[in-house]
Amino acid sequence: MKHFYLSKPNSRPMSLMSNPSNAIVLGAGLMGRLMSLALLKRGRRVDLYDAQGANASGSAALVAAAMLAPMAESAITEMGVVQMGRHGLHRWPEIIKDLQDHVFLQQKGTLIVWHAADAHEAQRFHQLMDQTHAKEPALEKAQVLNAEGIQALEPTLAHRFQRGLYLPSEGQLDNQQLLIALERDLYRFEAQGRLQLHWHQRKALEDFELESDQSAGPIKLFDCRGLGAKAQWPGLRGVRGEVIRLHAPGVELSRPTRLIHPRYPLYIAPKENDLYVIGATEIEVEDNSEASVRSTLELLTAAYSLHPAFAEGRIVQMNTQNRPTLTDNLPCIDLSSPSIMKLNGLYRHGFLIAPAMLDCALEWVDAQSLQLAQSFGLRVIQ
Ligand SMILES: Cc1cc2nc3c(=O)[nH]c(=O)nc-3n(C[C@H](O)[C@H](O)[C@H](O)COP(=O)(O)OP(=O)(O)OC[C@H]3O[C@@H](n4cnc5c(N)ncnc54)[C@H](O)[C@@H]3O)c2cc1C
Repeated sequence: MKHFYLSKPNSRPMSLMSNPSNAIVLGAGLMGRLMSLALLKRGRRVDLYDAQGANASGSAALVAAAMLAPMAESAITEMGVVQMGRHGLHRWPEIIKDLQDHVFLQQKGTLIVWHAADAHEAQRFHQLMDQTHAKEPALEKAQVLNAEGIQALEPTLAHRFQRGLYLPSEGQLDNQQLLIALERDLYRFEAQGRLQLHWHQRKALEDFELESDQSAGPIKLFDCRGLGAKAQWPGLRGVRGEVIRLHAPGVELSRPTRLIHPRYPLYIAPKENDLYVIGATEIEVEDNSEASVRSTLELLTAAYSLHPAFAEGRIVQMNTQNRPTLTDNLPCIDLSSPSIMKLNGLYRHGFLIAPAMLDCALEWVDAQSLQLAQSFGLRVIQ
């Protein structure tokens, strides 16, 4: 017989004779919210803890640009992440359709442009994407555009760029709408008494004690704390990112546009209601203090250089967070402790790969199978 013990804050461990259908989820950012809902839909009762409040203010997910761009990212990541991202492009519409609230999800492709000074970097970027396509022909090949091709896709950019690339199947979503929609669906389960939400409760794994039987059983605890799990993940680090949200009705871009930039991959992503997310910086330091003057100048200059109408935009938000990143910059699932599953290392690809991470985790929960994870080459520690 298995016993599962849960401690209360500032008290010695309190025994909670476990019902096998009970689960604890640590972290209500992107993975924690998705995981909690999936478990609730499987009939489990869930206790969800987050160090911050319901507004997800402690999460990288709140700050992200939420680009779903597997091919564009193939220039800087491994094939497994690209494949997980491709899986995500199919799964996000299903996940969002199941939510009660509207969430903006767009799959109108990514446009890539560059200024003449960055032509060499654009060429390198194109070659890397072609190499990905050569390795896996099922992945889309970047289409080369001339000035007319760019104008046909984005009339507002007419005559501004002579060459471009286009990845038609890529997408984006509105991360802030998604987090709210997931929260609303969680509240429905809370009202039914199936979910307990514990906001502003910072938890460590040591707060929870598995006793008696250390053999593998149903997963009871899902650790989705992102960077907050640093003490348990050697090498887990934060990679700083800064993002600006602008209201810019004069611009009229209809799809995410990636501007080749010598320092970091930079997107200008139109969300609903004339909002544009400009991001993101990527700086190898763990620091979530406010955006620096330098980054702000670079992001806004990039937007202005794409389209001068950004000059009249209004800055609605400037946000900074650290991306939870493992040593190899790749995601990982850790099953090495009995009854505990840890999901981490989503780095700059959380939205891109979250559906794949979720489906791999659920395949283990439902059938103790790692087939999907293996098909992606996802690292699973056992
Ligand atoms: C600037 C920026 C831009 C990005 N752009 C993109 C993009 O375009 N596309 C994309 O796919 N991804 C993007 N990402 C990455 C994506 O946001 C992350 O990969 C993703 O949010 C990670 O999800 P997570 O659930 O693991 O962690 P998080 O979303 O960070 O959630 C972790 C949660 O755990 C909670 N927590 C931490 N410690 C504790 C504790 N001790 N006890 C309880 N709760 C705790 C936190 O409060 C938080 O709510 C971006 C990230 C940043 C910062």
